[in-house]
Amino acid sequence: SWMEQVKRQDEVDRYLINGEDFIHESEIRYQLDKNKSCSKDEIEQILEKSLAIERLSLDETAKLLNVKDENLWEEMYEVAAEVKKRVYDNRLVFFAPLYCGNLCINSCKYCGFRKENKLEERKVLTKEEIKKEVEYILSQGHKRIIVVFGEHPQTDAEYIANSMKTIYGVNKRTRSGSTSRIRRINVNAAPMNVEDLKLLKEVGIGTYQVFQETYHKATYKEVHPSGLKADYRWRLYALHRAMDAGIDDVAIGALFGLYDWRFEVMGLMCHTEDLEKRFGIGPHTISFPRLTPASGSELSTSSKYLVNDADFKKIVTVLRLSVPYTGLIITAREKPEIRDDVINVGCTQLDASTKIGIGAYDKAANSEKEDKQQFAIGDLRTLDEVVKYLADNEKITSFCTAGYRCGRTGEKIMKLLESCTEGRFCKLNAILTYREYLDDYASEETKELGEKLIQKEIDEVNKEEFYQKHNLLVMFHEYYERIAKGERDLFI
Ligand code: SF4
Repeated sequence: SWMEQVKRQDEVDRYLINGEDFIHESEIRYQLDKNKSCSKDEIEQILEKSLAIERLSLDETAKLLNVKDENLWEEMYEVAAEVKKRVYDNRLVFFAPLYCGNLCINSCKYCGFRKENKLEERKVLTKEEIKKEVEYILSQGHKRIIVVFGEHPQTDAEYIANSMKTIYGVNKRTRSGSTSRIRRINVNAAPMNVEDLKLLKEVGIGTYQVFQETYHKATYKEVHPSGLKADYRWRLYALHRAMDAGIDDVAIGALFGLYDWRFEVMGLMCHTEDLEKRFGIGPHTISFPRLTPASGSELSTSSKYLVNDADFKKIVTVLRLSVPYTGLIITAREKPEIRDDVINVGCTQLDASTKIGIGAYDKAANSEKEDKQQFAIGDLRTLDEVVKYLADNEKITSFCTAGYRCGRTGEKIMKLLESCTEGRFCKLNAILTYREYLDDYASEETKELGEKLIQKEIDEVNKEEFYQKHNLLVMFHEYYERIAKGERDLFI
């Protein structure tokens, strides 16, 4: 309505400076152009800054994006891997996406759910259906969910809040006799006003995720021809409003393949900088999905900006080096071999056993055919298969959700990550949740590999001075023993 439009305008205007938003395209172009020929020395100096876990400036990111020498890129991959190791060690955090509805008022040209697309069925999940989906997700071993919604009056903030309550309320018995439940819900939904965001905060939102898709205004207009999503600035400030509503874990992202990838990385950095400047906190995670074939979307296969695998690795590397303390998400859109490659240079979170059709987990449990999805999936492995594969590569899977429940969010978690302290807590919680997973869900083969890995991790903890100094060792061992005996959800 007209009133809603005025209100929306108000909620955007208060963030503008001299009537302008923080994406200055000419400035981004200027940075990218003026930094075309940097010396190796200059690049290496920038890498030193990344190794000191400092965020890079726009100017420095532009320099990295312009590197042409493949040998220098090899060096950058190595440094990115080292930065990741310093902040996140060998841990990877897992989540499961849950699509709650495919009703949408928008016409995004890259999406299988857009309103013009003829789908076999358009629906939003009922409470009972959500419960069934969550039971399946829990049966795989997940503790963390990202719920995804299209933009539609039927999936408004109230529906989202009720869905979250339903999800948090599902309990499922595991084979060890313990009870499992979802411990953190992240939300990917359309931009909202502050009032609605406060509602999500009340019911325990983890991270609120809104991707700008493209930061390039003309492209944005072109691919979002109608619906609320056509409003670039309403979306651009969605996370600013979230911060003002008290949600301090926010996630940004761009859909790579709509426009020049170097420009989009700069856009993500401008977004990061603006959040940091205004709220003292950068994004909790950054996502960089690549355009993948979507049913009824010509653009998804014909865009002239589609990103190849080699450039994709460069995107992840530059992001890891530019924002060392921010989580980077790689989803099952990508094939296993691509995921491996980018995990090594910087990704920290991924999904597995993923189904993105509406009601698809329950359908999978009953081996029914799935409906059309929003886009195509590249990695079809189950969670157990991925956990096993990672264990074989000495990487530990973490189901930890402690940070958020101990108040280690927003500014606090940023400070801890910057000083590499959060990682020490994470290591302990990763081991505790890994123990739970091995006992409750792992296959025999995964368990065998997992036991070796967990022992190695415990040995490392025992040797580490930090834990002794802060009296954490006794607590950790006590929790570990209690979990091994069947208690659940103990964290530090
Ligand atoms: Fe709707 Fe989101 Fe698809 Fe756009 S991308 S059509 S907003 S579901």
